[in-house]
Amino acid sequence: MTWLDPLTTKALARELPTRAEAMKVLRSGDDELMDVVAAAFKVRRRYFGRRVKLNYLVNIKSGLCPEDCSYCSQRLGSSAGVLKYTWLKPDEVISNA
Ligand code: SF4
Repeated sequence: MTWLDPLTTKALARELPTRAEAMKVLRSGDDELMDVVAAAFKVRRRYFGRRVKLNYLVNIKSGLCPEDCSYCSQRLGSSAGVLKYTWLKPDEVISNA
């Protein structure tokens, strides 16, 4: 039994946490991390099972930006392992969307 059990039961009943309860979770220490993850997983499993929704971005242009912002992986000349291509054609954009 941990301090998270009542909060988990509440979440499983679709009741929102109070501000104080939410703050306690946010302020929990590293030693409590496994308990927090286990509690969150119980709620996640109840409502989402093992399903995962994956979203990702597709850039219309990638890796060949003519600007030279030294920190950026998208700049022309960057050695970062990002995809490099110029503008996608409109039909490619639509099919990716
Ligand atoms: S941050 Fe990257 S993508 Fe943006 S202008 Fe600079 S080099 Fe280009």
